[in-house]
Amino acid sequence: MPKSRVAISKGDDPDKMVAEVFALLGGVENLVRPKSTVVLKPNAGHPAAAETSVNTSPEFVAAVIREVKKAKPKDIIVAEAAAIGCDSMHVLDVSGIGAAAEAEGARLIDIKKEKDLINLPIRDARSDIKKVKLPRWLLEAEHLFNLPIFKSHASMVFTCALKNMKGVVQDLTHQQMHMTDLAAAMMDLWSVMRADLSIADMIRPAEGFGPHTTIPVDFGCVVASKDPVALDATACRMVGLGIENVQYFSAAAERNLGNFKEEDIEVVGRTVEEVHKDLWFPYLAGWETWPEYTFHASNACSSCESLVAFTMEKLKALGEYDKNAGCHVVVGSKRDDEMPQGVDPNNVILIGDCVKRFRGKGVGHWSAGCPPLEPHPLWVFIDREDHFEMEPDFRERMARDEKPWVEFIEKMRADRNADTE
Ligand code: SF4
Repeated sequence: MPKSRVAISKGDDPDKMVAEVFALLGGVENLVRPKSTVVLKPNAGHPAAAETSVNTSPEFVAAVIREVKKAKPKDIIVAEAAAIGCDSMHVLDVSGIGAAAEAEGARLIDIKKEKDLINLPIRDARSDIKKVKLPRWLLEAEHLFNLPIFKSHASMVFTCALKNMKGVVQDLTHQQMHMTDLAAAMMDLWSVMRADLSIADMIRPAEGFGPHTTIPVDFGCVVASKDPVALDATACRMVGLGIENVQYFSAAAERNLGNFKEEDIEVVGRTVEEVHKDLWFPYLAGWETWPEYTFHASNACSSCESLVAFTMEKLKALGEYDKNAGCHVVVGSKRDDEMPQGVDPNNVILIGDCVKRFRGKGVGHWSAGCPPLEPHPLWVFIDREDHFEMEPDFRERMARDEKPWVEFIEKMRADRNADTE
């Protein structure tokens, strides 16, 4: 495989940075055909405001649209299938991406609502996903540009170019991907739906409790490549994350999707050393991060996994972690024989609709939803009772929990900064 080129731009003007990475990769006129349809796939997975860095920033999406328009395409579409349980158009609205894109003349499409789908076979599939249904217009578009934001991720360590493409499938396929080897399933999807170009928003990437409880960091970079593997590997080097910590590089290598070794990547524009700044990834040890608890979590979706991880930290913030030590946490679609045996049922915490059937058998306490509402798993631990609806004091209780949580995060950040000084 020839070397992959990765372009890094640094600055404070999204338009200039986006224009620079396009220029470094051959120029927008060579990357976008005139009168073509260009589909832009941001990360717009969860309803969160722009300043949280949960989603790709609207300013960045607008800058990419302005750059793409220089090549005079016929149509620019911003498309998304938000995380399971999230409404794509609502996320585009809350994140500000929808308004920014429409102001630049782009159309918005919710992939989840699309009816005209083509069921594509995945040749040589490495996961259990043998076919994938994708919108006809997406397959027929001349260009697909992937616009991820870089952020920490509880179940996958980080998310950037490779993971963002999971948002081109509807909920059913999304769920099936989580029921199999997720890293292999993501690469299977890339094998039939490859973006021509990935342009990563690293202007304010996020560290901490991603994917949806993030801590944005001023970084000031845009990174782009035709090779998503090389982009992700370079982004990891930029933030001090060892790629050996990330399962999906080996899955990508197995499918020959791109280069991740430094010697196989040509970095142009700024160097990795020039822009390097360590980000904080608190979940690197996986479930071992919380050895006082036992997790039964194979096949869980990342939404639920990250919710559980976040809940563990929030138990600490609220002084409830030690009190609940010894609990067994069940998350994901478990087979009956994977349920904890010989455990006090009061110490079994069930997370999400896909383990509801165990509650019907009188086991444990249950947090309903697919995925559950954010505070419910926490309250199931503390209250040892089921939570399945918006209680009358829902918002008041959330607000009460917020102050110790913010103080906890601030302390963790300060401790972590002191360690790295
Ligand atoms: S409840 Fe089950 S299917 Fe739904 S998001 Fe959680 S793990 Fe996935």
